[in-house]
Amino acid sequence: MAQTHFGFTNVDESEKAGRVRGVFDSVAKRYDVMNDVMSMGLHRVWKAYTVAVANLKPGDKVLDIAGGTGDLALAFARKVGDAGLVLHTDINEAMLRTGRDRLLDAGLALPTTVCDGEKLPFKSGSFDLVSVAFGLRNMTHKDLALAEMCRVLRPGGRLLVLEFSRVAEPLRKPYDWYSLNVLPLMGKLIANDSASYRYLAESIRMHPGQAELKAMMQSAGFGHVDVHNLTAGVVALHAGIKC
Ligand code: SAM
Repeated sequence: MAQTHFGFTNVDESEKAGRVRGVFDSVAKRYDVMNDVMSMGLHRVWKAYTVAVANLKPGDKVLDIAGGTGDLALAFARKVGDAGLVLHTDINEAMLRTGRDRLLDAGLALPTTVCDGEKLPFKSGSFDLVSVAFGLRNMTHKDLALAEMCRVLRPGGRLLVLEFSRVAEPLRKPYDWYSLNVLPLMGKLIANDSASYRYLAESIRMHPGQAELKAMMQSAGFGHVDVHNLTAGVVALHAGIKC
């Protein structure tokens, strides 16, 4: 059986999705508060930047993969209006349910579907924009997932991948210390779950950096890929255009 990584641990490929499910089942209820605390609110800025780069028009069709508690889906839905479509999807029912409740509280009833980013149940060429925020690093076969995201886009459509990346060298040591020590401690204090937040920090280290992810997107069929470093590379937004 082929091996992959779950944080710093090697596991059989067949085990990873189940372990990731366990993490997000466990954190779903406290996910939003933890996001604000851990990033000191910065995830809102990174997502607002993503929405600005998306530059959606009324009527656009958008697929949000690994949409979790719905931050991007909510912002996108306001841009595309009633003439457009935003599909809010995730592999994890607990995250999706928390997100759907938030969207309903905000007055939005979006189509919400459980789906795996590695096997998208949509026809080729269906969307103007596909987004995946902080989801790709949890997927077992990232190359397959990127190829699927490319397939469901129309020619000229765009993929936005917002994800943790490689921080600039001078910040590496303090950032490593913060993420490998402080995040699990915050997880324990706020969500009574240090293991999930240790996985989060470890999975960031194992995720491809800016140049590697750009090359993977090009191999998956994106003719042009721009990389936007945010907060000194703590996070990067990769924007790819389907050939
Ligand atoms: N996009 C949201 C955000 O930015 O706040 C949620 C990000 S959360 C860190 C990662 C999400 O990826 C989880 O909701 C998890 O269930 C989802 N996920 C993990 N593996 C997935 C897969 N193979 N397909 C779709 N979603 C997946």
